[in-house]
Amino acid sequence: MQCEKLFSTRAHQLKSSAIREILKVTANPDVISFAGGLPAPESFPVAQMKAAFDAVLSKEPQAALQYSTTDGYAPLREWVAKRMSSGGANIVPEQVIIVSGSQQALDLIAKVFIDTGDKVLVETPTYLGALQAFSMFQPNYVSIDSDENGLNADAITADVAKDAKFLYALPNFQNPTGRMMSEERRAKLVEKVREHDLLVVEDDPYGELWYESAPPASLLSRMPERVIHMGSFSKVLAPGLRLGYLIAPIEITQKFEQTKQATDLHTSTIAQRVVYEVVKDGFLEEHIPLIRERYKNQAHTMLDALSHHMPSGVKWNQPAGGMFLWLTLPEGLDSERILAQVIKQNVAYVPGTPFYANNPQHNTLRLAFVTVPAEKIQAGIKILGQAFAKL
Ligand code: PMP
Repeated sequence: MQCEKLFSTRAHQLKSSAIREILKVTANPDVISFAGGLPAPESFPVAQMKAAFDAVLSKEPQAALQYSTTDGYAPLREWVAKRMSSGGANIVPEQVIIVSGSQQALDLIAKVFIDTGDKVLVETPTYLGALQAFSMFQPNYVSIDSDENGLNADAITADVAKDAKFLYALPNFQNPTGRMMSEERRAKLVEKVREHDLLVVEDDPYGELWYESAPPASLLSRMPERVIHMGSFSKVLAPGLRLGYLIAPIEITQKFEQTKQATDLHTSTIAQRVVYEVVKDGFLEEHIPLIRERYKNQAHTMLDALSHHMPSGVKWNQPAGGMFLWLTLPEGLDSERILAQVIKQNVAYVPGTPFYANNPQHNTLRLAFVTVPAEKIQAGIKILGQAFAKL
């Protein structure tokens, strides 16, 4: 059967990427991969999960295995509202909707806000998964200038902001760069957003994973009336749970709920109850510091290796949290072309180009460092340094 002619216009525009093809070899255990965006599996709280599944299936097995409400398990929504309120905002449970991973939040946001051709403001570069989710609905992206201190709010002029549906921002340890938006930039952003009457999507799966000190207050706490905040249990517990949350002004939450109902009815009942069982008595307060310590050590190993092995002309940032850093090669070099070479020496990274909505900078790349053992970080960075020096 000729299936292709049956595909929607939306499906036709999906292309498998050349980079994804190259990166398939990272499944080979001999490859030192700085490519994957996975959290460290050693940090998954297996014993607590086992105990929580047991408790949930002993206490209310039928409720845990039954369909449930679209907005989510009430005690978990209350827990999220309370936790987020401690950050300075006053969040009520009715503003919270539990989603099947924060990736689903991106899908719901796209469905609720984007019609073909609508203007969407994004950082430069930005999270690839968001571009994929939003692009299903064919927006017109405008990339906002960003640097070491995050998104530059001065670039949001009246003309840029005009008719924009929303600004998608990642203030904490951004994927892909690991950058954090400074206090000054956040304050400026709030000013500009108010001035131009913008709605902001704040994507924050990494905010808790700081190394030395907590990041400045969230955008949600500064202007809850115009922020949709996305959070996730993927990086603080485990991504296989597929559990995240959306916090929004109530009129928007209601739209998300209607949209989610059509998408998947609700998030896994048992996953929600198990996660609530794990977090309800403060487990994260002892668990997250262990992840911070692990990731901080990994970051130090990576930074040490880079300073030893990178030739002059290569630049990178010093992340203050999270799982990534961003490398910039001398002007004129193409990290995608170089990847095809270094992968033959069993080292991989993700080239920077797919993270740009417009005008990609081909000399950039993302390094993920939390799943690679220290000696392999040293060995892999040495190989990359030698390869870059030859170009
Ligand atoms: N947003 C960002 C910035 C991410 O890096 C990720 C995970 N790679 C997600 C959203 C999606 O996370 P999840 O669906 O696991 O919550």
